[in-house]
Amino acid sequence: MDSEKINPTTLQPRNPPCTGRAYSPSPPKRTHAASISFTPPKRLPPAATTVRAPPAPGYYAAAPGMGHPSGYNTATPMHALQRGPTPVDCPVCGQREMTRAETHSGNTTHGWAAVLCCCFCLGCIPYLMSSLKDVDHYCGKCGVMLATWHNSGRVDVHHAVRN
Ligand SMILES: [Zn+2]
Repeated sequence: MDSEKINPTTLQPRNPPCTGRAYSPSPPKRTHAASISFTPPKRLPPAATTVRAPPAPGYYAAAPGMGHPSGYNTATPMHALQRGPTPVDCPVCGQREMTRAETHSGNTTHGWAAVLCCCFCLGCIPYLMSSLKDVDHYCGKCGVMLATWHNSGRVDVHHAVRN
């Protein structure tokens, strides 16, 4: 009962007879140059290049043309205070004035002092570096402490702005 047995020799693929001529595609047909019409690229509408970016959040500017009597046209919100003196609207006296920034040793200072003291016996260094200290902002008019900027980036607002 070997009728279904397939002779493996019959499954060998037969190589196509070599014709001796490689297939060569027909040469590309030449097109008349006059039939090609060049179209210049369309210009983008100019409105796409004049999109103005919205103002940065956290800042509000005074109305244009109206200068604030204090000389500071913009006031920084309390929670956006940074290290340096910044014009703010004092919620206590209601005046817009540059804050008086005073550094003091904060938690970051003590942390660096502990690390440096343990590793290099240089625990006094952080207390000499103002860049590692926190900053208290006092009102330039009434002298009330308004906010404390911490070296970690956190801002403690001591007097909220009255609405
Ligand atoms: Zn004040």
